[in-house]
Amino acid sequence: MMKTASVEVLEEAPVLSADPYGDIFYAGSAEAYNTAIQGALKVVTGFLQHTKKPFSGIKPDQLAQLFSTIDFDTPLPDYKSLLKEVEQLYVNHATAFHLPQYIAHLNCPVVIPALAAEVLVSAINSSQDTYDQSAGGTLMECKIIDWTGREIGYGTDCDGVFTAGGSQSNLMGLLLARDHYAMKHRGHNIKLLGLPEDAGRYRIFVSEKAHFSNQKNASLLGLGEQALVSIPADERFRMDATLLEAAIKKELEQGNIPIAVVATAGTTDFGNLDPLLAIGRLAAQYGLWYHIDAAYGCGLLLTEKYRYLLNGAELSDSITVDYHKSFFQPISSSAFIVKHKASLDIIRHHADYLNPEEQDYDELPAQINKTVTQSTRRFDALKLWFTLRLMGKEKLGEYTEVIIDTAEQAACLIETDPELELLSHSDLGVLVFRHKPSYVHSRDYDTFNQAIKKSLFFSGEVLLASTRVNGHFYLKFTILNPLTTITDIQNILTAIKVHGKDAHRQ
Ligand SMILES: *Cc1c(COP(=O)(O)O)cnc(C)c1O
Repeated sequence: MMKTASVEVLEEAPVLSADPYGDIFYAGSAEAYNTAIQGALKVVTGFLQHTKKPFSGIKPDQLAQLFSTIDFDTPLPDYKSLLKEVEQLYVNHATAFHLPQYIAHLNCPVVIPALAAEVLVSAINSSQDTYDQSAGGTLMECKIIDWTGREIGYGTDCDGVFTAGGSQSNLMGLLLARDHYAMKHRGHNIKLLGLPEDAGRYRIFVSEKAHFSNQKNASLLGLGEQALVSIPADERFRMDATLLEAAIKKELEQGNIPIAVVATAGTTDFGNLDPLLAIGRLAAQYGLWYHIDAAYGCGLLLTEKYRYLLNGAELSDSITVDYHKSFFQPISSSAFIVKHKASLDIIRHHADYLNPEEQDYDELPAQINKTVTQSTRRFDALKLWFTLRLMGKEKLGEYTEVIIDTAEQAACLIETDPELELLSHSDLGVLVFRHKPSYVHSRDYDTFNQAIKKSLFFSGEVLLASTRVNGHFYLKFTILNPLTTITDIQNILTAIKVHGKDAHRQ
């Protein structure tokens, strides 16, 4: 198990203040605040300096044992004991996203300006719902939304809001699609009246490789998962636009009601972008709301070399961007953006105490007018503000380009290795493959690759992801770290083979 040197480091950690209000953040406790933060910072730098593997390998039951003696009725005497406890229970076993050997899910390493901003975000604790709880915070969020919208190609009428994540942003996309359809075609206000009678026939088209949040969101919206029409993907696992048109026609023939299409700009499993232009043209032709899920692919906005992959994004009505995936931001940092401001009016709810109807929102803006599932809301935009103002778009874009280039080299390595099978190249950085050495029978590939993944996980050496394609189990790399080199990838592939041999022997 991992050792840390931080216990000694914390020798001078602060003790609790004698002031009975010394734990409240106020003018009288500035010093206490400072020392507490210094203590926490030492734990963080200890984590950076002493973590050599992406995971300690601890099993849940071992970890649970450490929790058995924790008693909330008996508080700890000082920060030193607290930080030591938190190290043992959490920090020593936390997944280290910043190491190249973490190559599993869409978790990016984070940039330091954003972490500096985080100090302000939590301490000053603005709430982004109304101007009177945030002031400059609201304007900064709006400016970042506006900037992102213009990068997408939306023009000056765009608008939007920071959300907790891509799933929530996608929910807003489908909600607007649903409510605008009912209003425009039936004069029916779902917000007030609930679903119209024909809502069971509403249809939303998504690729078979789209994110599962679409299913959850369709359920939440009362349309049911049955509302989703899954469009088969091509050989690179992108939505096939020809089959999309066929599916729209088929639904129309059956008397169903196509309301929206969701394109994925960067699939979670393959990192490829659906044909955004072709889908956009079909959406316009059939009068469908066009939502783009760019939770992952939004990072392309920053690059010059690969920006073209997002061509067609400007045709959409709404878009999801996850800065906490592809802009190197700490969780949470995501946005939902619409091309036309007015399309958000349909979800607005006036609370007399917060955002009354009579208020002039040009004079006194209120982001709460644009949210559906959040009132009190963190000032996450400040992290991106620090990042963009200090590092600039180009530098972030270079990171993304390096990642894409490394992923392509990795794809070539895997593809040319006779013991490995790659399913697809990636526009971004996800590679799905399996190990199939000659000593393993093809009928055992699934269990063999499962064993490799598990063995690597509990060794803590390498954290991989996995997925199923046509019922079969594959390993998955998600490359989202500009520090990851092709040598790192080679070493990870070697570790896969070593663990494979070991697993086979057992
Ligand atoms: C990650 C992801 C989401 C969900 O985003 P969260 O921020 O995890 O809620 C949605 N769509 C795609 C394509 C994703 O990769």
